[in-house]
Amino acid sequence: MVGLGVVNLVTAHWLARAGFEVSAVDAGPDPRLGESWKRYGCSRGGANARMFTLTEADDYHDRTLGRPPVHAQFRRPVSLRGWQLCAPGAAEEEWIGDFERVPAWLARAYNADTLALNRASGALWDTWIQADPHLFADVELTRDIVRIYSDAGQFAESLRRQDSVGATKQVYTPAQLRAAQPALADAPAEAIAGCIVVEGFTLCVHDLMAALLDDLEAAGADLRFETRVSELLRDGEGRVMGALTGDHVVRSDHFVLSLGAEFSSLSPPPALRNRVHGVLGCWATVPNIEPRLTASVKLARRGHNAEDANVTVARDPLGDPILVFGSGYGYVGSRGKIDESELEALYRALVDTVRVYFPRALDAAGKDRVRESFRHCVRPWTASNLGVFETEPTPRGLAVWTGGHNTGGFAQAPVIAEAVHTALSGGRHAMHVAYSPRRWAAGAT
Ligand SMILES: Cc1cc2nc3c(=O)[nH]c(=O)nc-3n(C[C@H](O)[C@H](O)[C@H](O)COP(=O)(O)OP(=O)(O)OC[C@H]3O[C@@H](n4cnc5c(N)ncnc54)[C@H](O)[C@@H]3O)c2cc1C
Repeated sequence: MVGLGVVNLVTAHWLARAGFEVSAVDAGPDPRLGESWKRYGCSRGGANARMFTLTEADDYHDRTLGRPPVHAQFRRPVSLRGWQLCAPGAAEEEWIGDFERVPAWLARAYNADTLALNRASGALWDTWIQADPHLFADVELTRDIVRIYSDAGQFAESLRRQDSVGATKQVYTPAQLRAAQPALADAPAEAIAGCIVVEGFTLCVHDLMAALLDDLEAAGADLRFETRVSELLRDGEGRVMGALTGDHVVRSDHFVLSLGAEFSSLSPPPALRNRVHGVLGCWATVPNIEPRLTASVKLARRGHNAEDANVTVARDPLGDPILVFGSGYGYVGSRGKIDESELEALYRALVDTVRVYFPRALDAAGKDRVRESFRHCVRPWTASNLGVFETEPTPRGLAVWTGGHNTGGFAQAPVIAEAVHTALSGGRHAMHVAYSPRRWAAGAT
């Protein structure tokens, strides 16, 4: 396994359980050591919270039929309500062009496949949580998600969508929401147009990662951190023979590569060239003061820079209840170079969301503590908005590349693990077709 973010870590667990002998390397420190967040990839570098919903790994193309799609977000800086957080070079221009070329009908087809995989992943999460309760005992697993909309039109559209994927559990009027969740009592009337309670869950992903690492080690897996693969060694036929770390060559029958936003750094096969770029998101934490929020929330503020914010009920390392806010989209392209003043605009938008919906929690934390809680991490993102799944032969097995799951790498981790296991076992899985890079290159459905 090369890379041990949440995607490959769940896959490593799956493969070890299936009887594979697992060894893994990651360029970052051991997630259990709690080093500076800046030294980790997306999963451990972001805050300790992630969400599963049936629409988590959603598509971000304009999917309105009957008019040319409006795809402006990658051309406008964050401060002008766009997503741009870097100066685009040639690789970025090509990638943005690829994003903009996706017509509405094709984006709909892609989205349907992604959501089908999301649903399959949800079923795998449920089975896994029941089968391995020790892994989920200390991760603050919280069921059901409260979706809140500031815009009545978006609420109506979203209700139709949540109904169509079978996610809706309950619909609240603003008054019913305030009665069910008094923590939101201070939010102004214009901030809550409607509310849907949907299927889903949140958990503290760093704690799950720690439990998985302990479990893998107990099962005999060889895990090495601070160990970067600098090059894949290929034979005369181009097959992956080994992975170079320092002056050591790691050999294996199979290689499973999931490198997050650094996807292109290891010369992937040609079909995957320039496929995965980075889209940054921000995090902030405040105390969950009385009356406490008891369910995790998704806030939709149409037209705002923190347009979609997840609010996760969690605990800090001392066990105190906190609310973790995660939000914002900042395109950093292939090199991850960030315009700091534009990043500040994303943080400002996130704090504005905390202020509008939880003003007392913001006051209780104080500005300095909220600023200290800031962190950001970079999601691996594709122009097609489809994830990536590709295999290449090795002399005695396969090299499997996975990644680019946009906003849903955590949500989809079990179904990705299943697809990798199926490939290594010689079988076929829906993801092998849905996330094949050849599908996108052909512009086919
Ligand atoms: C604000 C925000 C909120 C989010 N919320 C959610 C959510 O609620 N639900 C959800 O499903 N998703 C969410 N996501 C997305 C999710 O966090 C990511 O999809 C996921 O963490 C990506 O995991 P990964 O394993 O692909 O990548 P990473 O976690 O980045 O892991 C990749 C690993 O590969 C290692 N690596 C890279 N190159 C090499 C190399 N050459 N040699 C060795 N190691 C290497 C890195 O060190 C890293 O540890 C959110 C993202 C953000 C930014």
